[in-house]
Amino acid sequence: MKLLPLQIVVIGGGAAGFFGAIACAKANPAAQVTLLEASRQPLAKVLISGGGRCNVTHACFEPEELVQNYPRGAKALRGALTRFGPQDTVAWFATGGVYLKTEADGRMFPVTNTSETIVECLIKAVATSGVKLRIGTHVTSVKRTAADGGFDILLKSGETIKCDRLLMATGSSLAGYKIVRELGHQIEPPVPSLFTFNIVDQKLRELAGVSVNPAQLRLSAGGKSQLQQTGPLLITHWGLSGPAVLKLSAWGARVLHESRYQATLLINWLPNLHQEQVREKVLAVKDEWGKKAIALHRGVDLPHRLWQYIIARVGITTEDRWAEISSKTLNQLVQELTQGQYLINGKGAFKEEFVTCGGVKLKEVNFKTMESRLVPGLYFAGEILDIDGVTGGFNFQSAWTTGYLAGVAMATSHE
Ligand SMILES: Cc1cc2nc3c(=O)[nH]c(=O)nc-3n(C[C@H](O)[C@H](O)[C@H](O)COP(=O)(O)OP(=O)(O)OC[C@H]3O[C@@H](n4cnc5c(N)ncnc54)[C@H](O)[C@@H]3O)c2cc1C
Repeated sequence: MKLLPLQIVVIGGGAAGFFGAIACAKANPAAQVTLLEASRQPLAKVLISGGGRCNVTHACFEPEELVQNYPRGAKALRGALTRFGPQDTVAWFATGGVYLKTEADGRMFPVTNTSETIVECLIKAVATSGVKLRIGTHVTSVKRTAADGGFDILLKSGETIKCDRLLMATGSSLAGYKIVRELGHQIEPPVPSLFTFNIVDQKLRELAGVSVNPAQLRLSAGGKSQLQQTGPLLITHWGLSGPAVLKLSAWGARVLHESRYQATLLINWLPNLHQEQVREKVLAVKDEWGKKAIALHRGVDLPHRLWQYIIARVGITTEDRWAEISSKTLNQLVQELTQGQYLINGKGAFKEEFVTCGGVKLKEVNFKTMESRLVPGLYFAGEILDIDGVTGGFNFQSAWTTGYLAGVAMATSHE
């Protein structure tokens, strides 16, 4: 039996590591909790998150519904989110004097509209709960100590720190994956998620700024099954972005990576109508406006510039009149409006949020406690796990949830 206070080390001073360290110190004030952060700037991602506003969580309080926003990790997170969900996140920050507001799409931000509020709150909580934060402290390796079932943590400086319990919260860093592999865990290969699509089509790019809501996207990559998303679509200077694209990039993260970001995208610009209804609309406008230019009389609800682009794709000129359109061209136009084919050629950065798909295999972790099923005393939280969500605050929620559960579990002595 140990007489010394329980020694807990958390590696990684990001959202998950802070939450884990604070939860642990609060749950067991007698324990000594040390938080090691390689850089000089803890919580760096929190600071830049959500375009500097930090999308802390999402106003979705039903775990069943919430987990549908995680392309990887939904099953594992279901139970965890019942133990610490978005409502707990909201309450946790409110206790620290930080209030969150909900935007129309469900994203939650601090009322101050700045991520600094979140960073300050977490730094303060670390200090008041007695966690020892060490910045500029890079961990190079971890060894299991056979004698007492603890860990030796080797720092870049040459120093070794001993602990009884260890929380790995190193995000998507390669150094973290290496440590975890050496301890016997398997890592699902990391690949990017949450990105925009490059479309090599100058005429489309000239429409940068035009948006359509909703549009329906169907992705076909590497000959694999099609993924589908419906939602707002934004045309950009390099191709396509907007929530529908970002969600598709998340669900298709692995298949798109395998196909080297070369894929076919089918766009239905009018998903609220069946193809036959689109045909009827087009025929009706043809009957009514026979003598008018097609470019100027569109009959379907789309931005004017987009309509002109779409008709040009089927060879209709700005002078062509409705009466002159052949059945073949009309069919092509209906096809273009409902199943326009675009080639994805590479990915672009979405600056507001991105995340890594892949990480520690979930079946090797007990999600009640976040403890390793292979190495007793080793815990995981945050992006190091093979969990990632679509954009909207889901990634931080996963970090808060897993960090909190790990922290509380580590605080409770096994002996
Ligand atoms: C630009 C951007 C914006 C984002 N915006 C949002 C948003 O608004 N909402 C949202 O939900 N998600 C957002 N995300 C995703 C979110 O930031 C991550 O999911 C989250 O930060 C993961 O937290 P984490 O603590 O697991 O990892 P991280 O935040 O990556 O923290 C890991 C920490 O571990 C440290 N570390 C790594 N290796 C070592 C080592 N060997 N020794 C010591 N320390 C080490 C790193 O320096 C780092 O500080 C955004 C991501 C980015 C990149």
